[in-house]
Amino acid sequence: MKKILLSVAILIVVLVVILFYRANSVFKNNQYQVTESLTPITLDESAVIDRFSQALQIPTISYDDTSQLDHAAFQAFHQHLAQSFPLVHAKTRLTKFNYYSMVYHLKGQNPQLKPALFMGHMDVVPVDEQTKDQWLQPPFSGKVVDGVIWGRGAIDDKVSVLALMESMEWFLTQDIVPQRDIYFAFGHDEEVGGEGAKAIAKYFVEQNIQFEFILDEGGVITDGIIPGTTQPIALVGVAEKGFVNFRLTVEGEGGHSSQPPAHTAAGILASAIVNVENNPFDARLEFFDLMFDNIAYSMPLSKRLPLANLWMFEPLVLSTLLTSPSSAASTRTTTAVTMLQGSTKSNVLPTIATAVVNLRILPGDTVSSIQAHLERVIDDPRVTLSIELASEASAVSPTDNIGFKLIESSIRRLNDNVLVTPYLVLGATDSRHFQHLSNNIYRFMMVSLDPTTLKQFHGLNEQITVPDYLNAIQFYYTMLAQTASGNQAPK
Ligand SMILES: [Zn+2]
Repeated sequence: MKKILLSVAILIVVLVVILFYRANSVFKNNQYQVTESLTPITLDESAVIDRFSQALQIPTISYDDTSQLDHAAFQAFHQHLAQSFPLVHAKTRLTKFNYYSMVYHLKGQNPQLKPALFMGHMDVVPVDEQTKDQWLQPPFSGKVVDGVIWGRGAIDDKVSVLALMESMEWFLTQDIVPQRDIYFAFGHDEEVGGEGAKAIAKYFVEQNIQFEFILDEGGVITDGIIPGTTQPIALVGVAEKGFVNFRLTVEGEGGHSSQPPAHTAAGILASAIVNVENNPFDARLEFFDLMFDNIAYSMPLSKRLPLANLWMFEPLVLSTLLTSPSSAASTRTTTAVTMLQGSTKSNVLPTIATAVVNLRILPGDTVSSIQAHLERVIDDPRVTLSIELASEASAVSPTDNIGFKLIESSIRRLNDNVLVTPYLVLGATDSRHFQHLSNNIYRFMMVSLDPTTLKQFHGLNEQITVPDYLNAIQFYYTMLAQTASGNQAPK
């Protein structure tokens, strides 16, 4: 008996030693080490802010009904860019697609180097009429109050468009001949499907262009959003989820509700929906693993210990992540049943009942693997499935490409308290149309958000602080200058 107790005690001690040893050794600080912080460019702040404010005042709204497109607004926006950035317009070639989407091309002198592409979008989502009066400054006022710039588009995504243009204008004053070709692509309808971006992508394919890397909107610098961290975390999207709508249809006999069958078409459909919800897709930790590898070293021991010992704690870590819809969405393909339809009258049996399941596809799953899953869990030949809208998940871009390295080093050289990590973008960006144009697509915008300001995405009181906007220009300028230099490693 004593021997058994002793063996158990020894085992426990060994286990504890292993857990702690791993907690302190698995995660290394592999953040880019700053040897030379950035020398910021000297901006004429009031002119820069004024140009941004004016851009926010132009209501380049995207409507689902594209016939509502405000041509005058987009023309005014183009004119504003032309007036504000004369050097860019003199020294680059501008091509327009679907009238209002734009590509600026700055030619480099070394044809051996693949070009780089920076993307953004000019359009914004509409302002909800019902909540319009809850804005503390009118949404298209572009007001600058107490160091904050207000307006729809301040973070999504006129900040990228204007900051990129400012950085290019500055770059061109230097009279440096770029080694590498640089392209800017600005869509005008990203919020409603990105037909402009599609046309641009088609053009690049026709031109046989392959990009060294592409940078589009996506992740941001988060403050107080990632649990277990106290430092700001820059999330750089290396992949994005796909989406697909499946319509479930059940046909019925119809007739009067006074003599119903045991199950109406609506009832059969309801049972199928319950089966879909009760059989979620498998959850996987791969995108969290990427994050843990980069930032877990900075977490307190209590967080690091389970993460460093997934061989023992994976079920616990996964179940914790699954309790919150936002972290759950990063671990698996999600299902959301959205639109339901049965008969149109309370005493009429439905001859047809339909539901739409909106799924967001985790990279690794595909539309066809999802269809197979749905058919298996519904397991009822009376329910038919049809695909209404589909876009596969993106590939996962590597982090050893010069594009990622430049993004990482530029963020850290501006503020080395910020930790950088790759992550999975849950929504869709225009860059999904560019999959075949580069293996290295990154989704990041130089904006800082905390739990409160995060809600301003497509929401109320969209705004950006003046220092944040100036910081975005510094970021893009460094990206541009280093990309143009053709160096294969960050300076
Ligand atoms: Zn956007």
